Amino acid sequence: MTPFTPPTADQLLAIRINAGIDELAQTERFQHAEPDLVEAIVAGVGQFAAGEFAPLNRKGDLEGAKLENGVVRLPEGFEAAYHAYVEQGWNAIASPAAHGGQGLPFTLACNVLENLGAANMAFTLLPMLSVGAIEALEHHGSKDQQAMYLPNLVSGKWSGTMNLTEPAAGSDVGALRSTAEPIEDGEHAGKYRITGQKIYITWGEHDLAENIIHLVLARLPGAPEGSRGISLFVVPKYHVNADGSLGPKNDLRCVSLEHKLGINASPTCVMSYGDNGECIGELVGQPNKGLAAMFTMMNNARINVGNQGAQIAERATQQALAYARDRVQSARAGSPDKNPVAIIEHPDVRRMILRMKALTEGVRALLYYCAGQVDRGNLGDEAAKARGEIVVPMLKAWGTDVGVEVSGLGIQIHGGMGFVEETGAAQHWRDSRIAPIYEGTNGIQAADLVTRKLGLEGGEALVTLFETIAREADEEFALSALARDCANVARWMRDDASLDDRLAGSVPFCTMASVAVAGWQLMKQAQAVAAGAAPELAATKPVTVRFFLDRIVPEAAGLKAGATAGADLLYALPAEALVG
Ligand SMILES: Cc1cc2nc3c(=O)[nH]c(=O)nc-3n(C[C@H](O)[C@H](O)[C@H](O)COP(=O)(O)OP(=O)(O)OC[C@H]3O[C@@H](n4cnc5c(N)ncnc54)[C@H](O)[C@@H]3O)c2cc1C
Repeated sequence: MTPFTPPTADQLLAIRINAGIDELAQTERFQHAEPDLVEAIVAGVGQFAAGEFAPLNRKGDLEGAKLENGVVRLPEGFEAAYHAYVEQGWNAIASPAAHGGQGLPFTLACNVLENLGAANMAFTLLPMLSVGAIEALEHHGSKDQQAMYLPNLVSGKWSGTMNLTEPAAGSDVGALRSTAEPIEDGEHAGKYRITGQKIYITWGEHDLAENIIHLVLARLPGAPEGSRGISLFVVPKYHVNADGSLGPKNDLRCVSLEHKLGINASPTCVMSYGDNGECIGELVGQPNKGLAAMFTMMNNARINVGNQGAQIAERATQQALAYARDRVQSARAGSPDKNPVAIIEHPDVRRMILRMKALTEGVRALLYYCAGQVDRGNLGDEAAKARGEIVVPMLKAWGTDVGVEVSGLGIQIHGGMGFVEETGAAQHWRDSRIAPIYEGTNGIQAADLVTRKLGLEGGEALVTLFETIAREADEEFALSALARDCANVARWMRDDASLDDRLAGSVPFCTMASVAVAGWQLMKQAQAVAAGAAPELAATKPVTVRFFLDRIVPEAAGLKAGATAGADLLYALPAEALVG
């Protein structure tokens, strides 16, 4: 596996142009996000990721996480790297200063994860899941809960998990059956006894952090059926004493680890709560409002998963580029020189490399555009908040699909050496494959886009986005045509299509829409570079953006047929007839 070189110049460009960091730094809340600090963070975390996380990527894949006597062990090196990460303060970038964070924009927290995840995606799930727990407590925890848990979660001394999924409750979280019984008397009076099994819990057990703070969804006695009867609980691995020291272990355990296609260094745990009837948790927020509480953090969690698309695409592209420049096969077709050349000289390999680069940069542009909207939303800009919400399912679904496509192309560029494991190209593809599945499958993201998001601002928000793109891209024929098509499909879905028809066309529509927004943001990057914004990218950026606008954008326009075809054909045969 090749070393990881952080794409600092391209990240800084996206942070400036697509997130608009300079504008954010003019607000009182984000006044510290000045150019010098932003550059220091982006370069610093890139260096840290390359030096500390990247060397463990292959080792983590080969050795994986192991469950030994109820404790999950990671390969040698993970503990030291995690401690270095905590000591250097990278975990605390965007958390509020009141809880020990640095209070910087979410955009910069995205950059920390982008670098760490490109270096080592499986490892980076540990801090990424902690972010979810921090946000849950920050927005819904009581003052006491915040004081007890947040400082150590923010520093990274403790880690966090999100426990939604159960064997019968996957996409349909409302079907979950774990229970929470109120405790009336004794030392835990006012708390709850949690019982149930959760599956697929990322970093549910490990010994890199001193304590693990589990956020668990469960049902109170007599709670309504479905998603309206779910409450959120904080359940620590070790009880926390009033003085902040750790008490005895709570009644919870990791029953087993899943054997997976990829991200082998990320322990995916089956967790059992309350085997002995003594698992103690505290209610977070209001009874039966657990799912609503989860929704406030899901937005950012989905951005962080979309970010993984950019991460794995970057890493796979770097790996493929190194191989393509090294591997010699055949003379260049039509060349008088009959000596064999490096495969990067062949037109089809060039096509794949440029496609990988253009798609990777496109997801990055979309990522930082989305992050910038979230930061503006947090400053009280309602239109930006709505824009961010619209773009989230696009980033999560298309971004992670791109991760899979690009890492698949990486294998193709390696030929047979991509299919055997030793180059590491296969690991990138195996790792990439989870991102379209968790944090709401990509099908669920597309459904969200054509239902809830389509209805935002009286059904105008989505259409306005595409109209803006069409107008601003008036000199980019293919992009403005795609944006007009997207606006028309959105109007049709909003005004005329049945719910079945909308859902049947949701995935092709989500891809079209994502390519339009990413193309628009790349166009802005190219304009900025032409005006002198990033001299290091002056040669490459015009080429990758042209590739995106001239080749990837027209492909997306072809998806209109699928987006508007409706559901009739899908149901022309009953399910049993599809078997024959
Ligand atoms: C490695 C890994 C880590 C994970 N980490 C966590 C974690 O930390 N915490 C946690 O709580 N969970 C976690 N998960 C669970 C993950 O979020 C779920 O796997 C995911 O939400 C999908 O649920 P499911 O697997 O039950 O699939 P299902 O819900 O059974 O879906 C199967 C297929 O049917 C489709 N489908 C289902 N319902 C609909 C519908 N209504 N409309 C259209 N299509 C539909 C889906 O899109 C999918 O293609 C993890 C999973 C994995 C594999």
